[in-house]
Amino acid sequence: MLPTLFVSHGAPTLPLVDAPVRDFLLGLGRAIDARHGRPRAILAVSAHWETDVPRVNAVAVNGTIHDFRGFPPALYNISYPAPGSPDLAGRVSELLAEAGLACETDHARGLDHGAWVPVAMMYPQADIPVVQLSVQSHLGPAHHLAVGRALAALRAEGVLILGSGSFTHDLAGFRSNDIDMPPPPYVSVFADWMDEAIREGRRDELLAYRRLAPEAAHNHPTEEHLLPLFVAMGAGGEELTPSHLHSSSNYGILRMDAYSFA
Ligand code: ZN
Repeated sequence: MLPTLFVSHGAPTLPLVDAPVRDFLLGLGRAIDARHGRPRAILAVSAHWETDVPRVNAVAVNGTIHDFRGFPPALYNISYPAPGSPDLAGRVSELLAEAGLACETDHARGLDHGAWVPVAMMYPQADIPVVQLSVQSHLGPAHHLAVGRALAALRAEGVLILGSGSFTHDLAGFRSNDIDMPPPPYVSVFADWMDEAIREGRRDELLAYRRLAPEAAHNHPTEEHLLPLFVAMGAGGEELTPSHLHSSSNYGILRMDAYSFA
């Protein structure tokens, strides 16, 4: 049975920079393989695909979407042509339908950088099929927990469920290109509250994080980068049994924490 993962994907330049989170992600695929066996497929839930209702991609081979502007040319040359899996896309639709959740199928879309940046570091060979599922920013944490719960059965079918967002994401607070800049207090106080609530399994409080956590709206002016965490949590099982796999920060404002749930 595979765990589920939440990872922070950072700035699109992550594959090109020197940062602790990059080293972590470069070793994460091998760590999963060694401990749980190689996934048969990956279901990536990225903050960068927002739709009204859940949407899953069903393609033979994933295109690489360079959904960012003004970054170094080397970044636009990165291609991650992982196969898709129409079978897994169908299974995702089926499981969501069983839970009373609508799901649309997209027969054209490839992987956005929220998906390919971490997956390409974890599995550089691009030999594991990847399917992407969208988020619904207007529906909040409880909906995404329900989506995760509906998909939990995939873990026993060899599918690695990977939520990809950012533990903190106040882009308006960006002040410096210094990737090692320490996080300001409003970032740390929020991340510490979240981490404690996750470790103590306070799921109801996490669902109400926007009301309860200090500086919540400051760190997530919009919710899409935190919502993949709730999918990973929901698919991770009814008992919240997290492992804090990684903690660091980039540019002060981005906490790059990663968790597994199993
Ligand atoms: Zn992002």
